[in-house]
Amino acid sequence: MIIKSLRNLLSLPLTDKKGYVPKENRGKVMWDMEKCIFCRLCERSCPTSAITTVKGESQSVERFKCIVCGECARICPTHTISMFSDYTVPSRVPVTHTFRKGSEKFSYDEVRKY
Ligand code: SF4
Ligand code: SF4
Repeated sequence: MIIKSLRNLLSLPLTDKKGYVPKENRGKVMWDMEKCIFCRLCERSCPTSAITTVKGESQSVERFKCIVCGECARICPTHTISMFSDYTVPSRVPVTHTFRKGSEKFSYDEVRKY
């Protein structure tokens, strides 16, 4: 006990000024709509019903509902959905991101904010 206390007293803190981000962190979900075939597997597998599909057009994700479980990215057969590998602040407002086929992609920073 005393040895352990002394060792802890002399060792560096485990915390990091930037915050600890585990390697397996899943970040937020992001769509690359050029790959989407509108099979709706992601929508059906989402446990919080955060995804809405308009067939042939778009997919939307309600950031406030998304629990960042990664199931949609895991099940997508065309790898349309990916997840950021760094920490993003959880959504505090009901923001919906709509990803449309053939239109400009959301920038990383835009999605990261919410
Ligand atoms: S699972 Fe993938 S390909 Fe299918 S609708 Fe969702 S994003 Fe598109
Ligand atoms: S990460 Fe999970 S909760 Fe979020 S949209 Fe995908 S399946 Fe739904």
